[in-house]
Amino acid sequence: MEQENTTSSKVIKLHKCPICGKLTDSREYRPFCSKRCSDIDLGNWFNESYVIEGKNKPDEETE
Ligand SMILES: [Zn+2]
Repeated sequence: MEQENTTSSKVIKLHKCPICGKLTDSREYRPFCSKRCSDIDLGNWFNESYVIEGKNKPDEETE
């Protein structure tokens, strides 16, 4: 028997939401599963960049 290619068109590409870890096929909010997770990530970004900018860390890695 030959391989049927018809099935490949039906394959849904799932990806893992980086926020909640859920597998999702959402295209609209890629790479997230939903607007909620997208918003959460945006919030994380703001927080992180805010912290980094506020910190402006000096050489703390000297031992
Ligand atoms: Zn998610």
